[in-house]
Amino acid sequence: MYDPKQIIEDDKSFVWHPYSSTHNPTDNYPVVSANGVRLQLADGRQLIDGMASWWSAIHGYNHPTLNQAVNKQIEDMSHVMFGGLTHPQAVSLCKTLVEITPKDLDKVFLADSGSVSVEVAIKMALQYWLSQGIKSKTKLLSLRNGYHGDTFGAMSLCDPITGMHHLFEHSMPQHLFAEAPTMGFDTAFDERHIADLKRQLSEQHQQIAAVIVEPIVQGAGGMRFYSPDYLKRIRELCDEFNVLLIADEIATGFGRTGKLFACEHANISPDILCLGKAITGGYMTLAATLCSNKVARGICDGEAGVLMHGPTFMGNPLACAVANASIQLLLDSPWQQTIKRIEQQLLRELSPAKALTQVDSVRVLGAIGVIEMKEAVVMTELTPKFVDAGIWVRPFGKLIYIMPPYIISSEDLSLLTSRLVNVITTS
Ligand code: PMP
Repeated sequence: MYDPKQIIEDDKSFVWHPYSSTHNPTDNYPVVSANGVRLQLADGRQLIDGMASWWSAIHGYNHPTLNQAVNKQIEDMSHVMFGGLTHPQAVSLCKTLVEITPKDLDKVFLADSGSVSVEVAIKMALQYWLSQGIKSKTKLLSLRNGYHGDTFGAMSLCDPITGMHHLFEHSMPQHLFAEAPTMGFDTAFDERHIADLKRQLSEQHQQIAAVIVEPIVQGAGGMRFYSPDYLKRIRELCDEFNVLLIADEIATGFGRTGKLFACEHANISPDILCLGKAITGGYMTLAATLCSNKVARGICDGEAGVLMHGPTFMGNPLACAVANASIQLLLDSPWQQTIKRIEQQLLRELSPAKALTQVDSVRVLGAIGVIEMKEAVVMTELTPKFVDAGIWVRPFGKLIYIMPPYIISSEDLSLLTSRLVNVITTS
């Protein structure tokens, strides 16, 4: 048996959690198991999970199919180096990814986390132009409110303010930023919305290797949804100015927005695509960077002849096995109807919160529901109230948002939304 008090005490003494202080630690709730959409706390309480472990646990927890995939792979081989050796799980995963992602993404580089897949994407873009003998293209153009990860290259592409990394500005690579897209999936596109991006591309395309965007949903930079027409226009401008397009679908990939990949809303293909999070159904850390044959060939025809990257745990067989099982499970399910059902229910059940004086707006897209408050919330005050209400939701800034596992039943989703709105109403 676990002693919840001891876990909390040792956690505070020895463990450094994300974005937290060591000498003024916030409470972290010990979870001892998880099943379906429920997290079991060490003190006996159960929480309905509204976060899917940050977008990833799309099939919920302790799923028999995913468990079986990991167990079987453990019997065969847990890990093996990926240089000079390959294995069926990685080959099958890469083939599937090429088949299910937007067209013209032909080659897959396996990475070990979302941030690393962005690092790989940056290297691909820079190496591609170097290989063409174009040394001036050293900058990436990112969007305000964008978020791409916590490693140095990825940090340098995050909005310097909302991206949380301005502290490191003095030692980060310096890239370019264009105005954020106008909010609203259904907002009618106006050429003026993209004027800043267009101006920077037209003035500096000789310096710009790639534009990087989170398609349709800017996540950690504000949970902002924007029009597919805007994304379509970015693709056109990249073509016009001979700049690569990198789509960061680490959060949006694998169905979350109602399409398998958010690029499909605009019917576009990027030159480079980053995937992560839900790729293994949240079971293991794995990510992937895909690129077109044009980019791959360009890189490999260059002076180096190879892509200069190779992590130790690349293509981990356990991670690949569970990714294969997770993707198959998703594709074999009626996931489009599921996401539609969740979307409609979120709209119905969260929209009334618009009437609350402390709420600024409510927005829903696919299996993502966002309540934006007028003022920033105090996470340390709100979180215990959510836990007491039996739900797991982690707000940040002015945002209280949920993206539950896709397997959530209508009944559990109703419990989640009603308790969420109730906590906001009474806080
Ligand atoms: N890009 C996006 C769009 C993300 O949402 C995240 C994770 N929040 C990352 C990159 C970084 O992924 P990871 O945390 O796995 O490094």
